Amino acid sequence: MRRVIMLADGQSFYASVEKAAHPEYRDKPVAVGDPARKSGIILAACPIAKARGVTTAERVGEAQAKCPDLVVIRPRMATYIAVSLLITEIYESFTDQVEPYSIDEQFLDVTGSIALFGTAEEIARQIQTRVHLSTGVWSRVGIGPTKILAKMATDNFAKKRLEGIYTLSNDNIESDLWPLPVYRMFMVASRMSGHFMRMGIRTIGDIARLDLGEFKQRLRYRMGRQSDIQAEYYWQTARGIDPSPVVAGMRSQVKVINNGRALKWNLYKTIEDIEPLMIELVIEVCRRARKYGYMGRVIGVGAAETDGSRSFHFGRQMSLMRPTYLEHEVGSAVKKLFLEHWQGMPLTQLHITLTGLSGDETYQLDLFEDREKLIRCAKTIDAIKDRFGLTAMIRASSLQKTAQAFERAAQIGGHWA
Ligand SMILES: [Mg+2]
Repeated sequence: MRRVIMLADGQSFYASVEKAAHPEYRDKPVAVGDPARKSGIILAACPIAKARGVTTAERVGEAQAKCPDLVVIRPRMATYIAVSLLITEIYESFTDQVEPYSIDEQFLDVTGSIALFGTAEEIARQIQTRVHLSTGVWSRVGIGPTKILAKMATDNFAKKRLEGIYTLSNDNIESDLWPLPVYRMFMVASRMSGHFMRMGIRTIGDIARLDLGEFKQRLRYRMGRQSDIQAEYYWQTARGIDPSPVVAGMRSQVKVINNGRALKWNLYKTIEDIEPLMIELVIEVCRRARKYGYMGRVIGVGAAETDGSRSFHFGRQMSLMRPTYLEHEVGSAVKKLFLEHWQGMPLTQLHITLTGLSGDETYQLDLFEDREKLIRCAKTIDAIKDRFGLTAMIRASSLQKTAQAFERAAQIGGHWA
């Protein structure tokens, strides 16, 4: 059956929440940032402020210079998260398939709702009205048969239209999406669009119209042999192909994210045997954390070991300086804990946990440039795994005999675990 998927985005989300809380600023330019730090960053600006030249991620001081009567309001992340959850609840009155994508963007699968609530456009208008009445946030809604088309409908079309609704389907993808420059395609950052430019690829249609085999070959020539999976990802994206389902969020229930295995005895004897598996557990925990929109500050490791006569087990935790869901940060803590407490006998069980969870929106307040880039890179890999299965991209260490990624993916059907 043909699916009907929406990506609903809140316009100037933090700034809109603040404007709703401060009716006295209704006709004033409003931005969210730290008013006491001129070198701090503008996190959001309302449409009036944007019309006066204020942009997201510029310095507070620069924004005030452009727009002297700018009202700068200190961010209240806990409130924004609460409003985001309230919006999820409104969406859930239309469908139980709601997947938060970021604090102000959520996917909805309304395939089964159309018989109850009207056409997709009618549902989108009802959503706009209800969300606006209860939160003051104006929603832009992209509609399509896949998540990727819904997302591109929002970013490239719905956001630019007064009514804030746009449908991208197989009927208009060629006329509407394909003429756009390639950097407007989802997940194409500046480095990649540079590659495409030098390959003579200027528009999204330039990718979509190529035969997949030829596109793979041309990307290989430019980026090396390992680029096949990327080629397939971009080619599918250009054509709007994306089988990944809308997965209902777990935001309200999750307290701990964990992953563990019972192990075949006498196979995991040295750290060289154990590490490939440990890395796979870390990758999976981090991927789930990113999926649910959580970072964790407390890392736990549990293990059981036996030499046949004696046995020993331990469970230990450590706190990090700041919450994370990045593999190298979680992984180094896991390895350190493990080496401190492991007695050196063959392992029969290993599990790791991430707790002390907080929403991943708040890290943006720091805006550590390098970290932001690492997070974007990790999320790109997640998107590829969502579409092609968990083994679409693996670490070289998963090729070792004590690793389990392939076996594991086969057991659980591979995709979308
Ligand atoms: Mg937004």
